[in-house]
Amino acid sequence: MSDISSFMRGLERRNPGETEFHQAVREVVETVMPFIAEHSKYKEAQILERMTEPDRIVIFRVTWVDDKGQIRANRAWRVQFNNSIGPYKGGLRFHPTVTLSVLKFLGFEQVLKNSLTGLPMGGAKGGSNFNPRGKSNGEVMRFCQSLMIELHRYIGEVTDIPAGDIGVGDREISYLFGQYKRLTNRFVGTLTGKGLAFGGSLIRKEATGYGCVYFCEHMLNHVGDSIADKKVSVSGSGNVAIYTVEKAIQLGARVITMSDSSGYIHDPQGIDLEKLEFIKDLKEVRRGRISEYAERYPSASFFEGERPWRVPVDVALPCATQNEIDESDALTLLGNGVLAVCEGANMPTNLEGAHAFGAAKILYGPAKAANAGGVAVSGLEQSQNSLRLSWSREEVDGRLKTIMSGIHERCVSYGDRGDGSVNYVTGANIGGFVKVADAMLAYGPV
Ligand code: NDP
Repeated sequence: MSDISSFMRGLERRNPGETEFHQAVREVVETVMPFIAEHSKYKEAQILERMTEPDRIVIFRVTWVDDKGQIRANRAWRVQFNNSIGPYKGGLRFHPTVTLSVLKFLGFEQVLKNSLTGLPMGGAKGGSNFNPRGKSNGEVMRFCQSLMIELHRYIGEVTDIPAGDIGVGDREISYLFGQYKRLTNRFVGTLTGKGLAFGGSLIRKEATGYGCVYFCEHMLNHVGDSIADKKVSVSGSGNVAIYTVEKAIQLGARVITMSDSSGYIHDPQGIDLEKLEFIKDLKEVRRGRISEYAERYPSASFFEGERPWRVPVDVALPCATQNEIDESDALTLLGNGVLAVCEGANMPTNLEGAHAFGAAKILYGPAKAANAGGVAVSGLEQSQNSLRLSWSREEVDGRLKTIMSGIHERCVSYGDRGDGSVNYVTGANIGGFVKVADAMLAYGPV
């Protein structure tokens, strides 16, 4: 049995039924195991076994009262995965599909992603199976306040600093931070993604999407090309998707799709900045459905229950959720001549899809490299909070660009295939692994 199969058998036995976690670890192990075989110090210290076991997991009930006066209960988790290179850092997700497996996959990815940014941040993830869709502001507020009554015991500005993710945006972070401040009587940067009036950073909202496009541009520049004039499909219409579209438009691309969980819109004329303002209002203020775009703009069509990958494009930027590109979607994209796929969402491509992109040697930017801009600017928000300073838009955007460029360089240095092409999956996994592994080696068996 190969080292990879025997490692995965053990991991699957120890974590039964956690399919998303297995998938995320397998993708890393496939690329890191050959590197470990060449560097026996990591094998001797059982680094991969230790790195795939979270430091701790907190599981708790969140009880709250809905608008009808009925008592409701949800489950919440915080997975503190690894703090070898800095305090735990990672988002909170509120979505009915949240399970321990999903949060362990996200936490594990976060460890390597945070390492890749070059900033001193460990990895964590948390959230709840609470569904904010259709809930009133009052219900969301009561849920967030109740969750924080328990969560505040485990987090802190030098311990664990949560941020947003799916279903957790400005509104939720504000309720969570207000309750944290009340419970602890301390005004410190224990959450990121805060409002600008109370310690938030300029560009944090835009950072994941902008960073994804900066990374994509680096991959294209590396082969003498650019995103300007490229036809681009984007999935999702949440925080990451909106600012991915904004930056792609600003760099001269023609973005022709966006989606939500009910289907996708295809606008062959392109989504321009004015149309994007309509989507921002629709999604950020009115909390409506993407199908309304096709009602508003006759140039667009809405495809109910479908994903956008059969639309022929040069560049695909998946920005909705995990496993939204399977092998058949990947083959369709390749058949239509896609040049680059760059992941704004976490693990949007399943393993078979990722293998298809790898075999075709297209430019394939995996999530932990391509969407690290969000956590990077969260790290910059923490720095500003510690310094009690606020940097300008230009300053933060400049630092974001430098960080994305550094991540790209790290991927190239570890992912060079030797034939002039780059395997960004290998590059990101090894590039993220080495720093965390070296810190763990230095500590001895803790
Ligand atoms: P949002 O909640 O703002 O938006 C999520 C978008 O994805 C919505 O359009 C949503 O549609 C769609 N979506 C969610 N679940 C599904 C599903 N099961 N099937 C189809 N569509 C779905 O989240 P974000 O934009 O913040 O996050 C998107 C992705 O980016 C996630 O993978 C997240 O982990 C990742 N990410 C986010 C970061 C951030 O800074 N926010 C940082 C790094 C990664 P609908 O409204 O219909 O549910």
